[in-house]
Amino acid sequence: MIHKFDVVVLGAGAAGLMCAIEAGKRGRRVAVLERAERAGKKILISGGGRCNFTNIYCQPENFLCTNPHFAKSALARYTPADFIALVDKHRIPYHEKTLGQLFCDRSANEITHLLEAECRAAGVKIFLNAGVREVKRTDEFLLRCDRDEFRAPALVVATGGLSIPKMGATSFGYDLARQFGLKIQKTRPALVPLLFGAAERGQYCDLAGVSAEVVAGSGGHHFRESMLITHRGLSGPAILQISSYWDKGKPVRIDLAPERDVSAALRNGEARNMAAARAAFQGVLPKRFATRWLELHAPAAKGIKDIWSRQESEELERRVHEWVVVPADTEGYDKAEVTAGGVDTDELSSKTMEASKLRGLFFIGEVVDVTGHLGGFNFQWAWASGAAAGRSV
Ligand SMILES: Cc1cc2nc3c(=O)[nH]c(=O)nc-3n(C[C@H](O)[C@H](O)[C@H](O)COP(=O)(O)OP(=O)(O)OC[C@H]3O[C@@H](n4cnc5c(N)ncnc54)[C@H](O)[C@@H]3O)c2cc1C
Repeated sequence: MIHKFDVVVLGAGAAGLMCAIEAGKRGRRVAVLERAERAGKKILISGGGRCNFTNIYCQPENFLCTNPHFAKSALARYTPADFIALVDKHRIPYHEKTLGQLFCDRSANEITHLLEAECRAAGVKIFLNAGVREVKRTDEFLLRCDRDEFRAPALVVATGGLSIPKMGATSFGYDLARQFGLKIQKTRPALVPLLFGAAERGQYCDLAGVSAEVVAGSGGHHFRESMLITHRGLSGPAILQISSYWDKGKPVRIDLAPERDVSAALRNGEARNMAAARAAFQGVLPKRFATRWLELHAPAAKGIKDIWSRQESEELERRVHEWVVVPADTEGYDKAEVTAGGVDTDELSSKTMEASKLRGLFFIGEVVDVTGHLGGFNFQWAWASGAAAGRSV
């Protein structure tokens, strides 16, 4: 069967649904094609099932993009307040968890219901189990699913990134961009746990579950949040954030005691030894981690016994503020919250998300080379880029 629409949106995720709502409200006849058996599956698992749907402190600086100015226009024209107004309209209770992060009180389900209800109100047709296999362009776009064919003068690609392949993530959106001659910025897992090398795994991984507030830094960026030791390496918000900036082979520098002078008493007191260091460090770091870290880093670990010099104590203080870890790798797309890189923003209009090389072709959401920090920023980009395209398509 052949279906004709004004706009076909590929992917019923956060970005695709928002785009469809905005386009439908403008009277456009919109079809959303979704491969899965239901819309918004990633929204359902987001934020631990409560969906961190935006961040009230959202700024362009919260995004990684080869062109740091690209996201500004869309973010300014669809703000966190715009999405909050929608959440209020649907009487969905929410709360600020921390650092401006807004979560549903009850369930992420309510956000998918909101989007589906807005789609219905805007006359949008959502086709489920409609995985698109092939896209051609004649005088309009022609999309082939298993049984049906869709035609429209405008195509919006909102197929998401490569993270969580077991939920069906594929490279379809990137392949489509290449098919139409658009450049791609190299993709990589982001907001992802980091893996220790063999030595550090042996040294720390039996402490899995231990967490501490740290400042993690790499590539000139720093995040002060909590860090968690896992069975394979490091995770927790500080590590997920810095993973987006980390390049393989480079160190991550971790301040284990931000703004604390851990060994002041040790340096100024009589006893500069392991017992005094343990007492001081256990006051700041989780006990088991403090003990282990000291066993591996204190002057005693280098065979310097008993009383340490003032200089050696100062060196210990320096090292606790700059624990250098060179991760072996990340946990990969299986565990990554998002995909960094994607459709090159030089190829797109920052106002409309339309490809400059091919009129009528739009890319929105995670498939684009715009990646948010942890904390609701990725959904805010999905809403903002979706709205930008939906208001223009
Ligand atoms: C575990 C987890 C938790 C997260 N929590 C948060 C959070 O709390 N806050 C936050 O801001 N971000 C969070 N994120 C990130 C956020 O989910 C994504 O950035 C966002 O969903 C991207 O939206 P999107 O619409 O671009 O892509 P997606 O939501 O991935 O949607 C793409 C859709 O396209 C469909 N599709 C793909 N190919 C085809 C095809 N060929 N034919 C038809 N359909 C197709 C897919 O099935 C999918 O439904 C989380 C991510 C993960 C993995």
